[in-house]
Formats: sequence, structure tokens, C-alpha cells
Amino acid sequence: MNTTDGPTASARLLNASAHASTARGERVRVSTDRSGYLPPSLPDGVVYARCVEEVVHTMELATAHRVPVVPRGAGTGLAAGASARAGEVVLDLSGMNRILHIDPVEQLAVVEPGVLNAEVNAAAAAHGLFYAPDPASTAICSIGGNIATNAGGMWCAKYGVTRESVLSLRVVLPDGRILVTGRNTLKGVTGYDLNALLIGSEGTLGIVVEATLRLRPAPIQTATVAAYFADVDAAAMAASAIIAARIQPSVLELMDGPTLEAVDAAQGTGHRSKGAAFLLAQTDGYGAFLEQDVLIRAIEPFATHIEKAADAETAAALVAARRQAIPSLERLGRVSICDIGVPRNRLADVFAGLAEISRNTGVGIYNVAHAADGNLHPMIVVDPGESITEGPAKAALAEMFYLAKRLGGTLTGEHGVGLLKRDWLQEELGDLSLELQHAIRNVFDPKGILNPGKAI
Ligand SMILES: Cc1cc2nc3c(=O)[nH]c(=O)nc-3n(C[C@H](O)[C@H](O)[C@H](O)COP(=O)(O)OP(=O)(O)OC[C@H]3O[C@@H](n4cnc5c(N)ncnc54)[C@H](O)[C@@H]3O)c2cc1C
Repeated sequence: MNTTDGPTASARLLNASAHASTARGERVRVSTDRSGYLPPSLPDGVVYARCVEEVVHTMELATAHRVPVVPRGAGTGLAAGASARAGEVVLDLSGMNRILHIDPVEQLAVVEPGVLNAEVNAAAAAHGLFYAPDPASTAICSIGGNIATNAGGMWCAKYGVTRESVLSLRVVLPDGRILVTGRNTLKGVTGYDLNALLIGSEGTLGIVVEATLRLRPAPIQTATVAAYFADVDAAAMAASAIIAARIQPSVLELMDGPTLEAVDAAQGTGHRSKGAAFLLAQTDGYGAFLEQDVLIRAIEPFATHIEKAADAETAAALVAARRQAIPSLERLGRVSICDIGVPRNRLADVFAGLAEISRNTGVGIYNVAHAADGNLHPMIVVDPGESITEGPAKAALAEMFYLAKRLGGTLTGEHGVGLLKRDWLQEELGDLSLELQHAIRNVFDPKGILNPGKAI
């Protein structure tokens, strides 16, 4: 391909790539993700990788010419981790989207990074299996992005986050060498766990080009409950009561009144008329309905209305309502999504703190939460042209972090640090941890060309 940029380092890389573009429309598309971040400039171009050899070639050129490279999956990230600016080249992996192999006996799948999360589950279902980490964005996010962010999701309440479901990885290092991490056995402790290190490294240590994923037997049955509450505090107390009842829901999702209103307006549903806060709870496996009975007894003192889903269709509609929370809010404006985690018995405290932040900063806060994990997504909606990295939106995000910290929690439960949360990183990790993490990054990427300015 030709570029008009002259013989800059990135132009040399782009010129030598089999599939690349410097078209403005493409550069705009890959300059940001779904975080609401407005990039100050556009990347120099984008390389579309179709195979491992093309990733290796790109990274060898990037190292030779010292061109910063931003790996990109499906661009659904919520921390601006895949955002890119002038002087950088985006490496788009969405075209490496084949499911290479499913082994129903060993219960694993070997996939390329651009495969969408939902596609893995559709393929696994044909064998009576499923892939557990299911972000609400399952239909639109890639496995490579899930691995890079250590994504969570609804079923993580019972089955754990991405790190618990990735057995091994093939990774292209910044200089083009190929590293294989992990193993294809369920157990194994040889050497340091580089697999775990790579998962959640936000594209800063290497580029995932193949993953072996752990599948699990699909639950024999699932029981679904929708519960409505007079306010979000009551819903939070009910969620804590479920945890205290020593049962293990497979899904426990909370939405507050303003979010229900947005979902109803966008999806034509009527949840808000039934209550000012909502809990979606599922139990699964052989004892699903026994667990459901215990769950209902735990929440009855707090709920104003409880419905058991009569059939799979009703259950799917309830799950869809939760999955549509962010897209429904995006219809109202630019959405800034926070991702704090708190101990699960502090849910009521965190909602009280969020209400205070809303009063102090003057911003409206919409709340959804993976309640079983204590992982909340307070969201702020600003005008489409308004920045989320300054003014009241930024101030509220900072206050949310300090609230989580006071309650013994964390800055990010599953979306990652990306570009948007680096301001508070040192305060959570401390100097020594951060120093060691920079040293590790330097071992993998001594020239600092992989996703600079992100994550740590
Ligand atoms: C409606 C909606 C709902 C969401 N719900 C959830 C949720 O429930 N749980 C959750 O965890 N997240 C959720 N997200 C956030 C997002 O979907 C996840 O972070 C997802 O893992 C990002 O995947 P992606 O393919 O879009 O990655 P991108 O946005 O393209 O990239 C994310 C990060 O991964 C890196 N990266 C991408 N591919 C690779 C690769 N092959 N090798 C190395 N690095 C790579 C990028 O550099 C970047 O740092 C949601 C997003 C939306 C829009």
C-alpha cells in the first residue's frame, strides 16, 4: 500500500504490511473504544493481521523502526486501552477469527484472538459445553481483548473471570519472537506462571495470537429470579443476604432505578414500574431449584416483588435487559463507566457513598453491578461532545475510586486501567509494586513500543 505521510517510521511499517490502511475513516474508527474517551489526535494507520506471520512481521518492523503499536480486538473496551494517537500504529486482530479446534473430551477450545466471545459459546454449546467468562458485551467483544483485560461477566459469580478459563497462550513479543505460556492440562506448576501474567496485561507485554480455553459442562438446568425493591439500598442488602446464605448464584446482577428507566425507554420493557431497583439472580446445576428456594427466602425480607421466570424465553429476556444497560444509556449521551470493586458486605455502603458523590459533584449516576463479586459500574452520562476526562465527570470518577479505597476495594474489577485510570494507580499499588511492574514490562518490551502509556 501507499501512504502520503512521507518516509516516517510508521509509514515504512505501513508500506511494508500486506494489509494496512491510512484512510482517515479507518484511523478515526480505531482511535478509541467504547469508553467515551475522545482522542486528541489520530493514529498514523492500521495494520490488519490475518495470520501469526503477519503479526510477527509487524512487530519485527515496529522494533526495527521503533514504532509504537496498539493491539486492538473488537474495540469494545471501557478504559481506552485500545485508543491510539498520532505517531502510533494500530494492529487490528479482528480478522484472525477462526475457532481452530474444539476437544469435547478434554473440554477445551483452541481459538484465534479475533473470535467473538459469543461465537466460542455457540461452538461449545454444540458439544454440551460452555465458556464461562461472559461479559455483557459477549456478542461484540473478542477473546483476545477478553484475555488482555482479564474480562469478567455475569457467570463469573460462580465460574470465575477469564484467568480461570485460559489454559495456555501463544503470544508474539514486541521483537517478534513467539512465546508459549501455560499448558493444556488442568494442573501444572512448572516455572513462574507467565500465562497468568499475560492475562490482564492490557496489550503491554505481548500480542495474543492463539488461546487454549477451558470449557465446562453446560449446566443441566438453570433457575431464574427477578426481584424488585423500593430502593437500591434494599437491593444491595438482599444481594449481601444471598452471599451470607452460603449459596452460589451463577448470576447476580443489580440495576438501580435510573438505569431501569433508561433500559425501559430503549427496550420497551416495564421494569421501573415494578420497583426502584432490580436484582437478577440465577442458580444452576442439579440443585438449581433447591438453591433458588434458599435464595428467595434470603431476599424476601428486602424485596417488594419477586418473580420466578416460568420458561427459558422469560429468563433470556431478563438477562437481555441487563446486557442492554450500557447500550441503553449510550442513547442518552457519552457514557463514562466506572468499574470499582468492594468487599461484598459493603454494597449498601458503596451505594450510599455514590449518592453522596452525585450530590457533591452534581452529576447523575446510573448504577449496575455484578453484585456477587462486589463489582460496580457507576455510570455518568455527559453530552456527546463533552469530555469525560475533565470537569465533573473526572472529579466524580476520582471520588468513586477514593470511596472504593475507603471501603477496602479496588480501582477496577474487570475493565482494566487502560488510559483512563492511571492517575490513581500508584495510590492503590504503592511504589514498590509499581516499580517491580515497570521492571517486568521492561523485560518484555525494552524499547517501550507496545501500547505505550497504558495500564501501568
Ligand atoms: C455494552 C458493553 C458491555 C460490557 N460488559 C462488560 C462486562 O460485563 N465485563 C467486562 O469485563 N467487560 C465488559 N465490557 C468491556 C469490554 O467488552 C471488555 O473489556 C472486552 O474484554 C474488550 O474486548 P475487545 O475485543 O473489544 O478489546 P479492545 O477494546 O479492542 O481492547 C481492549 C484491550 O485489550 C488489548 N488487546 C486486544 N486484543 C489483544 C490481543 N490479541 N493481544 C494483546 N492485547 C490485546 C488492547 O490493546 C486493549 O488494551 C463491556 C463493553 C460494552 C461496550
